[in-house]
Amino acid sequence: MATLGIPQNTIAVLQKYNFNIQKRFGQNFLIDTTVLERIIGAAQITKEDCVLEIGPGLGTMTQYLAERAREVMAVEIDRNLIPILEDTLSAYDNVTVINEDILKVDIGALAAEKNGGRPIKVVANLPYYITTPIIMGLFESHVPLQSITVMVQKEVADRMQVGPGTKDYGALSLAVQYYAKPEIVANVPPNCFIPRPNVGSAVIRLTRYEQPPVQVQDEKFMFALIRASFNQRRKTLVNGLTGAPELHLTKEQVATALEQIGVSVQIRGEALTLAQFAALSDALKPC
Ligand code: SAM
Repeated sequence: MATLGIPQNTIAVLQKYNFNIQKRFGQNFLIDTTVLERIIGAAQITKEDCVLEIGPGLGTMTQYLAERAREVMAVEIDRNLIPILEDTLSAYDNVTVINEDILKVDIGALAAEKNGGRPIKVVANLPYYITTPIIMGLFESHVPLQSITVMVQKEVADRMQVGPGTKDYGALSLAVQYYAKPEIVANVPPNCFIPRPNVGSAVIRLTRYEQPPVQVQDEKFMFALIRASFNQRRKTLVNGLTGAPELHLTKEQVATALEQIGVSVQIRGEALTLAQFAALSDALKPC
């Protein structure tokens, strides 16, 4: 089977199977070998690696992964792609295609079965409509992970990487940066895909920390504070957090905690660093 990253070969496969591209599954197939090489290079795949690919599509990146990794698990929701993948991946005996919704797969169990519970690498050209639940699901379920190297919408890649004081800074930035070191490794224009997406794309590598960069007593409570702060982005933290019914906080409690961690009671959540959110969380919820 010819390399699919070349546009004519991708078009030939789509025609051979008379494949109906599904917008609702975020199907934008990569047709640029330079971008494919960049993704694989950034993921630093070796023959030791067990890789999870989310949404293999026609098998374009899967072919590259199968050449370089020891083992590839590819989870694809669209059952019409399964016979195509059998064809495009027929040369490889180290790929397992799983016809499932990635949000319903027990990835921890899969990693245990295929990699003895050792950390896996995730590599994907993600379906953009579920980028955040996929990334957060991988981190929060504590699947053993080395890194996540993924194509996402450019704006989402920016949000994962920025710090306080920028308009893109938010709950996703803080969550990603608590679990991993983010690095944008390439910007990718719409003409690298069939069909072309309406937005620019970027490849981002998230390298999982062994230990989070900040210590916090109650991780869940800190993330509840973070979510509440950015739900009420334009309000001061004192007003935003006391307006969040699930937190049961009074203005006095929030003001005292802010004073305790040494920041102004007028501050907004968007100005707080991850370390300050951790300190605020500990101040509001002492063990
Ligand atoms: N990897 C291919 C490529 O680069 O050409 C396809 C990438 S395309 C952007 C996203 C892929 O994810 C599609 O094949 C789509 O069917 C699949 N997909 C969408 N939602 C999914 C889900 N919930 N679980 C698993 N795969 C999904």
